[in-house]
Amino acid sequence: MYDYLIVGSGLFGAVFACEAAKRGRHCLVIEKRGHVGGNIYTRELEGIQVHQYGAHIFHTSSREVWDYVRQFARFNRYTNCPVANYKGEIYNLPFNMNTFNRLWGVVTPRQAEEKIKEQKKEYQTEHPRNLEEQALNLVGRDVYEKLIKGYTEKQWGRRATELPPEIIRRLPVRFVYDNNYFSDIYQGIPIGGYTAMIEKMLEKADVRLNTDYLLQKESLDDLAHKIIYTGPIDAFYDYCFGELEYRSLFFETEILEEPNYQGNAVVNYTEYEVPYTRIIEHKHFEFGTQEKTVISREYPAAWKRGDEPYYPVNNDRNNCLYRQYVRLADKEERVIFGGRLGTYRYMDMHHVVEEALHIAQRELD
Ligand code: FAD
Ligand code: UDP
Repeated sequence: MYDYLIVGSGLFGAVFACEAAKRGRHCLVIEKRGHVGGNIYTRELEGIQVHQYGAHIFHTSSREVWDYVRQFARFNRYTNCPVANYKGEIYNLPFNMNTFNRLWGVVTPRQAEEKIKEQKKEYQTEHPRNLEEQALNLVGRDVYEKLIKGYTEKQWGRRATELPPEIIRRLPVRFVYDNNYFSDIYQGIPIGGYTAMIEKMLEKADVRLNTDYLLQKESLDDLAHKIIYTGPIDAFYDYCFGELEYRSLFFETEILEEPNYQGNAVVNYTEYEVPYTRIIEHKHFEFGTQEKTVISREYPAAWKRGDEPYYPVNNDRNNCLYRQYVRLADKEERVIFGGRLGTYRYMDMHHVVEEALHIAQRELD
């Protein structure tokens, strides 16, 4: 008999398993995929750590979280500085003085601010009703048309006028020459890959791969006192109120016989006509010097049940549905829901670590 049955070997499940083991509890981790790590799984190809489910950069401003993850891996000094390719023109991201200089030839922050003010003058509104209005209101026509519109419409499969304004609030605008995408104090990638980091977290737990909890719920429930469930909450309840919606992705990965394909880890393709949103060149996450390179093209895709759920679509309909499931979950005595799928939220890795540590402390101490 185990103390905990942990459904899902992603970051949330692994942190909880590690914390439980530290306190002498026995855990069984079950995972429906053929590998541990969930979406942060990396696998080695040509000596390069390939981020199989999309580029993952660890960043946080929490000293506690940073110290915690570094018990399981050494982190390199990678800083995310993606560039945008719009019809062959290259722009730095996030929107900063380098971007504004390339767009308009402006040199000082004052010149850039004046240019943006002039660009957005005709779109000023107190209450933007959709993403297009929000973006025009924030940065004006040039940045919107070259760097936002096409990318966003591909990513979400809808016109920018049909999307909520909130999505674009995540893109910072800076009047300094700083291409660092994140504003957090700490940032890096685990040397040797995320999978090795997760394996270390899971060292003291029993792990069963290729096991879908929902296909043998009753017999698996008998193996433990309590269950930590990190799969989709609606699937747990057999979709009794309906399906929560997601946006999906697929990746086309290729090994190329050249050492350096695009000169940067992340290149966003911001025009609508190119069907993928970005190309990841994995070796640049770890300053690789191999003779070959591995790239992944990332294509946004519609989601249907059975596809990989990537981005929750947190609109009113889905949030309301989620709350119905939460009312059922609140009544569970043996089950704790956690992670991005269990709580139907977009969560960065540092949020996941923070939340898993918090829940572990509450549950185990
Ligand atoms: P998951 O990793 O999804 O783990 C859940 C696990 O449960 C999976 O392995 C799944 O197979 C398993 N499972 C589900 N159902 C069952 C079942 N019935 N039986 C058994 N097993 C089951 N965060 C950052 O901080 N930086 C980034 O740069 C970043 N980039 C991202 C890029 C993309 C494209 C996406 C989509 C996300 C990105 N994230 C990033 C977020 C990051 O991926 C998540 O924070 C993290 O992976 C969530 O971990 P988790 O354990 O909650 O979920
Ligand atoms: N975005 C954009 N142009 C870009 C990159 C992002 O317009 O070159 C917008 C887009 O709407 C996207 C949002 O910003 O959905 C958040 O993008 P980010 O890359 O920060 O998030 P991720 O997709 O990596 O989770």
